[in-house]
Amino acid sequence: MTTRMPFVGGNWKMNTTMATATELAAAIRRDTADLVRSCDIVLCPPFPYLPAVAGELAGGGLMLGAQDVSSEPDGAFTGQVSASMLTDVGANVSIIGHSERRRYNAETDDGINNKVRMALDSALWVVLCIGETLEQRKAGNAIEVILQQLRHGLMDVPADQMRQLVVAYEPVWAIGTGMTATPADAQEAHRMIRFELKTLYDGGLADSTRIIYGGSMNASNAAELLGCEGIDGGLIGGASLKSDEFVKICSIAAEQYQSKQPCEGTPAP
Ligand code: PEP
Repeated sequence: MTTRMPFVGGNWKMNTTMATATELAAAIRRDTADLVRSCDIVLCPPFPYLPAVAGELAGGGLMLGAQDVSSEPDGAFTGQVSASMLTDVGANVSIIGHSERRRYNAETDDGINNKVRMALDSALWVVLCIGETLEQRKAGNAIEVILQQLRHGLMDVPADQMRQLVVAYEPVWAIGTGMTATPADAQEAHRMIRFELKTLYDGGLADSTRIIYGGSMNASNAAELLGCEGIDGGLIGGASLKSDEFVKICSIAAEQYQSKQPCEGTPAP
């Protein structure tokens, strides 16, 4: 049985308006009041709506996250948002290394590592996203790719900051496509990530680090993924824009917390 508290994040991407963002945050806050003690829940709206969403979430036990953060503390970096600006408006988490930023903003593992270290030093929690493309999976390189992204993303991150970090395994081909990894494939990737954390740090840290899955998770497929030992929650894109759907995923994560079983077909570590 796992002792890791589940972690569910809603990545709203470049969606919502001021009105729909605050409405969505208010509805999720209302309907997760009973869940926040058994599941860490973070909402990640677009930057301009962070202060308004912070207002809606105040005192409700949910966390507020940004979808990215600068690796620089301040200065002439047009268009960037610093970690201290995020904490200033009430954010306590940042997603870093999302595949859409790797792809559309040419983010590299080096740049991602700089962001991770800046965010952790600024007391933000980090959701570090890693995942392979379909071509990499078809070529049989999925595990090698994600472990390389993990090692690079965590370079020079000390063990005592790792409690602020959640790893999100997000196969690129599953994001926004309606395709999900099979529970056994996802579980195998999570098992390898945890094993690598043990190599990089130690067994205790590997056991306590949350590793969540992202890629077309929704209320209908969440139970089979979140029911797998080693899958500690989800990073949710499309389904996080519908409060009922997102709250259902959070409630499944909270329920699964006490009753994890290894998935059929997955070799024991
Ligand atoms: C994501 O953006 O991290 C994600 C998992 O998106 P979706 O749930 O829409 O696939």
